[in-house]
Amino acid sequence: MPAESPQTAGSVPPANLQRQAEAAYLGLAVGDALGATVEFLTPREIRCAFAAQHGIHREIVGGGWLHLPPGQVTDDTTMSLALGEAILQRDGTVEAQACARAFDAWMRGKPVDIGNTVRRNLMRFRRHGNPQVPPSEHDAGNGAAMRVLPVALALHDADERTLCDAVRVQAHVTHHNAESDAACEFLVLALHDGLHGTTLRRLYRERIHPFVNRHPQFRYRPRRAENPSGYVVHTLHAVLQALLDTGSFEECLIDVVNRGGDADTTGAIAGMLAGVLYGLESIPLRWLRALNPDIRARCRGQARALIERRHSPNTASTYATNSYGRSDA
Ligand code: MG
Ligand code: MG
Repeated sequence: MPAESPQTAGSVPPANLQRQAEAAYLGLAVGDALGATVEFLTPREIRCAFAAQHGIHREIVGGGWLHLPPGQVTDDTTMSLALGEAILQRDGTVEAQACARAFDAWMRGKPVDIGNTVRRNLMRFRRHGNPQVPPSEHDAGNGAAMRVLPVALALHDADERTLCDAVRVQAHVTHHNAESDAACEFLVLALHDGLHGTTLRRLYRERIHPFVNRHPQFRYRPRRAENPSGYVVHTLHAVLQALLDTGSFEECLIDVVNRGGDADTTGAIAGMLAGVLYGLESIPLRWLRALNPDIRARCRGQARALIERRHSPNTASTYATNSYGRSDA
């Protein structure tokens, strides 16, 4: 673990906040693009496939089961961008109907991949028009957790209750499940702390430790979590192990994606956390250059826009049923 930084929560000026936001968004996209190459492979299959690179996958080269061009991302990044756009169009408010419409439009655009729960529940939205699904014990996939970042950015100066309420609004468009909710709330609060300058050591003490005490199924296991599935508990086991067992953005991402399994999503979630914790300069230039230029520009632009939204004195605040945002902060 790195040493404590002297920076204290709440002391980050807006320019720095924007850089932190960009680091988180680019971290998400880089992790998604890096992981997609080895999604659904086992660690052993990865070692064989990358034998010429000492058995380790460490470059953004595309391919994988989706046959992606180098630098392309998957649903983890593109659903986040769709959600962020919906939040911006609602003046910084996370509103269920707007989120559902944005995700539906995203699905109509024929994304390269889409999770089963996301597809099923967006089809349900098309049929019934209800933007919030009922609770289901079967919807504990990581599809809502992977796209929490725009909520953390838009509500970067909100209190914990507002952040948690808002992140559940976006989550319940497709996943209404206690474990998914717990993961989404933990992630949005961890990102919030990261935006305000926390360190990995403090994050462990103030967020990770209390989170796993409250939800023991997420507790850090001494045994290495390999081949993590799309079950959000398994996803976070791999992400938290990789984050806590490494000391840099690059090490963390290489560690987590080489565990295989749902590697684009563990890469995306680890990438947003490691990005905000280690900062923009920590993201290897070769990965930023390899990222699809359009995606890179959209992530940067949206990160800035979501932060600025909260600083614009002329932005009208809105409130609607099932919505949380500026007016609740
Ligand atoms: Mg994906
Ligand atoms: Mg995935």
